Amino acid sequence: MQKQKLKYEGKAKRVFESDRPGLAVIEYKDDATAFNARKKGTVKGKGRVNNLMTAHLYPLLEQAGVPTHFVELLGETEQAVHMLSIVPVEVIVRNVAAGSFAARLGLNEGVPLDSPVIEYCYKSDELGDPLVSDNTPVAMGWAEPGVLAEIRRLSLLANDFLIGYLADRDIRLIDIKFEFGLLPDGSVVLADEISPDTSRLWDAASAEKLDKDRFRRDLGGVEDAYQQILTRVLT
Ligand code: 5GP
Repeated sequence: MQKQKLKYEGKAKRVFESDRPGLAVIEYKDDATAFNARKKGTVKGKGRVNNLMTAHLYPLLEQAGVPTHFVELLGETEQAVHMLSIVPVEVIVRNVAAGSFAARLGLNEGVPLDSPVIEYCYKSDELGDPLVSDNTPVAMGWAEPGVLAEIRRLSLLANDFLIGYLADRDIRLIDIKFEFGLLPDGSVVLADEISPDTSRLWDAASAEKLDKDRFRRDLGGVEDAYQQILTRVLT
């Protein structure tokens, strides 16, 4: 499979057209940004970790009943995916209070939630991905009601699967961001990636942060944390 024209370059990935109709190639970069790109840096090996972790988890999620855009691994930092029409909504599922949720509600990070909290954000770099209410995606025409219901169902199913899979590897899934898209036949599939960039992952015993918060908060040991997550996830 051959990469062709660059279609889109994001903060952490490049997306290329390919010589196979309906398929694209995603190249994962080591570039890291935080706080709506006001903080920029590089995390050596991050592109490889995020690519290999996503390529490992997406087939497992498919077996668990969550369709994904993943097609095949092409190399250490590249994978083939189905081209989608992306729904411009980020879905955050939270199992434990942390980050913006903890700040908004004045909670200490680490307080477990009685049931998973789902939040929707509008995907917009200019606006900084603002939080929106549950019915805004339908009211704004970003997703049909049936599509939003399916996105919600798949987000909870994926979260459930990942909690167990990661717990078996001594990782606590604190929260995670999902993105979805539509295939040409209208079916909803999980897009984007699952990685320490897009989730909070704490060591189950020590509560050590093994995710992008190490970069965001200048905690050091960012590369090691990403490698450790990949090693555990592949085990
Ligand atoms: P928070 O809203 O607490 O900052 O983030 C909640 C979860 O969603 C975290 O796991 C965070 O990594 C992820 N997340 C939310 N928005 C983004 C985003 O724009 N980019 C990335 N990489 N992750 C995000």
